[in-house]
Amino acid sequence: MLKKTSHFMREANFIGGAWVEADSGATIEVVNPATRQTIGTVPKCGRAETRRAIEAAEEAFHSWKKTSANDRAKLLRKLHDAILDNQEALAELLVMEQGKPLAEARAEVGMSAAYVLWYAEEGRRVYGDVVPSPWADRRILVTKEPVGVIGAITPWNFPSSMLARKIGPALAAGCTAVAKPASQTPYSGLALGVLAEEAGFPAGVVNIVTGSASEIGDELTENPLVRKITFTGSTEVGKVLIQKSAGTVKKVSMELGGNAPFLVFDDAGVERAVEGAVAAKYRNSGQTCVCTNRFFVQEGIYDRFVEKLVEATNRLKVGSGLEDGTQQGPLIDEKAVEKVEELIADAAEKGGKVVAGGKRHSLGGTFFEPTVIAEASPEMRFMQEEIFGPVSPIFRFHEEEEAVKLANDTAFGLACYFYTADLGRAFRVMEGLKYGLIGVNEGIITTVEAPFGGLKESGLGKEGGHQGIEDYLDTKYVCIGGL
Ligand code: ADP
Repeated sequence: MLKKTSHFMREANFIGGAWVEADSGATIEVVNPATRQTIGTVPKCGRAETRRAIEAAEEAFHSWKKTSANDRAKLLRKLHDAILDNQEALAELLVMEQGKPLAEARAEVGMSAAYVLWYAEEGRRVYGDVVPSPWADRRILVTKEPVGVIGAITPWNFPSSMLARKIGPALAAGCTAVAKPASQTPYSGLALGVLAEEAGFPAGVVNIVTGSASEIGDELTENPLVRKITFTGSTEVGKVLIQKSAGTVKKVSMELGGNAPFLVFDDAGVERAVEGAVAAKYRNSGQTCVCTNRFFVQEGIYDRFVEKLVEATNRLKVGSGLEDGTQQGPLIDEKAVEKVEELIADAAEKGGKVVAGGKRHSLGGTFFEPTVIAEASPEMRFMQEEIFGPVSPIFRFHEEEEAVKLANDTAFGLACYFYTADLGRAFRVMEGLKYGLIGVNEGIITTVEAPFGGLKESGLGKEGGHQGIEDYLDTKYVCIGGL
């Protein structure tokens, strides 16, 4: 396995077009969460290496921003093709460091390629404006230009696609990038560096630094050469990055935590709702920011929904992501398992009924049984806290308004889902939910063509869609007088 993926498994950082170690020679071990074995190391870099990466990106920016959108698109299309040509090897590498089932890893790598292609295309459509002037002798132009060097910090749950959907629009817009992948899953990010180099991006356009999150984060946020920070991760860290970016008034894009509600009304088809529930809950073993955190089910359909979800949950095959047919891999680490255990214990104490799973899986390590908790109630911790694991708490509600109120009773506002056959209700509920992403009778809705992003404490800015490139652009107004 290692042999097949070793070309991409780079145990070095990519700075200014060179593959380098940390100045100190220090490294971080990377562990396969399914086997708990170390699969390799990556450099443990800090501020000095990050500063050099930023300077290399700044140097590269001067010429990169002057290339045509079409030339940048050509390189991005090469990168897209290279990702797809190597989809299998990249997917296996992703499974080894992250644990998700191979089918999900293939889909993630496919999404990475899709983001790169989408922004290769969108980069050619960064239009400005010529605005009717209020003055006879002056003209008004509005132009868009790349912001400059961007810092991208990405999480472990989608280590490939989260980076692709940041560097895709950044490079298409004419920005250069310094990226920091999560320490648990650095290889998928470094692999994009390998492919970018092979595709022919000039030295310094893409830089990838691994190591101390706080040191790299501090340099990225404090260095005035960096003009934008784009982050996907926890709300807690996102708030710190926003505060630190304030010192040099950088643009920020934040894809932060969620607390997704999934509403099922009495008039919904229970089979379809359960199918959507499984997809929206258990993908990546519940470790995505758009995974359902709370099911709210109307009283008339409650028992049937619980019964069917329990059946579907018990059918899920737990195992190593590389085994055929696996649907649930391990959780990322021991801390994640402890959090899930705490939340289940809290629910059980407060009257919740564990009707499926509920404990560590017999496979050991960080494998956990997919779990359903019936009779959930608002005083339980998962009403407000992100579970990030395969646990489905099911609350009961009576009225539509009550359901919308419960769904909105959170500081988060990323994804939500609801199932109904009533068109009027669909519009009322959609308009009532304070969420950036809404699935109506659908449990999986992310696609490169649509803007992904949260409201409230779930984030700022959009990724994907035509909106996703805007955050990498500065708007300039030019007044031409004396005509
Ligand atoms: P999670 O809780 O899901 O692991 P985090 O927000 O802690 O999410 O991590 C997401 C990314 O942010 C990772 O790349 C992590 O290394 C990085 N990170 C964590 N703390 C900081 C920090 N203080 N400054 C910058 N980046 C950080």
